[in-house]
Amino acid sequence: MSQQDRLIFFDTTLRDGEQSPGCSMRHDEKLRMARQLGRLGVDVLEAGFPVSSDGDFAAVRAIATEITEGPVIAALARCRENDIVTAARALEPAQRKRLHVFLASSDVHLEYKLKITRQQALDQVAASVALARQFADDVEFSAEDATRSDIDFLVQMITIAAEAGATTINLPDTVGYTVPEETAAMFRTVIARVPNADKLTFSAHCHDDLGLAVANSLAAVEAGARQVECTINGIGERAGNAALEELATILRVRNDRAAAKVATRIEHELLYPTSQMLAGFISFAPSPNKAIVGANAFAHEAGIHQHGMLANPLCYEIMTAESVGQPSNRMVLGKHSGRHALAHRMAELGHTLDAAQLDSVYRKFTELADRKKNIYDQDLLSLVSARPEASASAFAAAAASPVESVA
Ligand code: MN
Repeated sequence: MSQQDRLIFFDTTLRDGEQSPGCSMRHDEKLRMARQLGRLGVDVLEAGFPVSSDGDFAAVRAIATEITEGPVIAALARCRENDIVTAARALEPAQRKRLHVFLASSDVHLEYKLKITRQQALDQVAASVALARQFADDVEFSAEDATRSDIDFLVQMITIAAEAGATTINLPDTVGYTVPEETAAMFRTVIARVPNADKLTFSAHCHDDLGLAVANSLAAVEAGARQVECTINGIGERAGNAALEELATILRVRNDRAAAKVATRIEHELLYPTSQMLAGFISFAPSPNKAIVGANAFAHEAGIHQHGMLANPLCYEIMTAESVGQPSNRMVLGKHSGRHALAHRMAELGHTLDAAQLDSVYRKFTELADRKKNIYDQDLLSLVSARPEASASAFAAAAASPVESVA
């Protein structure tokens, strides 16, 4: 496959994801997540927004120091000198770094949020991208709210960003408003009209307000984008970002389709363990019916489905649970289960427990099993979570179908 056929996975779980309600992570959790994302095979890891807080600065710096192979480490900055200099300082230790600068391109943002004219916006883009290039060869420019921008002005802004040295051009659907045909048309138009577009990597960053983040990202790829920005479990502002696990799995399962004929570095068997790790760090798990990583994504309970599955799994299964790292033959865990089964299941969920930890978790497990008929993976994770109160309530609300139905 040529370079053109490689799709770059840009993960923003630790930036767009982490800044959304219920998703804040501690410093050590961000580092563990970053290591896991490296193993998962993401190409670019957006570690944070350094100017936003001392904690974000420290996290980006620690990730830039520690993750020395695998993903490029990216940090976000507005088109302001202090943002860019601060992001560059946070990224200093990185072996491979990317500065990601953004400015809104829609009139509604320019007029009401930034209170600047179109010309002022263009001047800020030129100056900011040029400044970023003094610190890194790899500079991404995002035209925030691109999908609600005047197309002629958007093309003008991207042309200026590219002339100033941006190497990746991101056209975000910041508000989750666009539909696939419209996304594809926007990418085709910008790619056709921006000079030397073949030297640039175009990128999609889609939000899920209308449930179309993944579909819009695929439409962008079909139209020539070669980077997708996404998060684990689709976390992110409001309804979230495009879910990494969904995009990666579509590209694998439907690689017979044109849009899906792109190569990635994703290690598919790590999708579920990565999803579970994130669920243990933040205050909610993916809903049980979430594609790919939900507890019920591979469960069959209805009799007619079970009959079909037993006759031939192809009747109802387009992929196996194992192919995305979900355990298939789940043991039924309940009040009669022993320590060995609990330890085995916890290990499958990414938590290897020593004897003392197992004792403690087992005690909590038996207490829970006395109260609750069905024990879900989320319940088990809440037993080892650092914030059990928050997790237990969110998980109780999210849980819908028992682990037992999988067996
Ligand atoms: Mn976003």
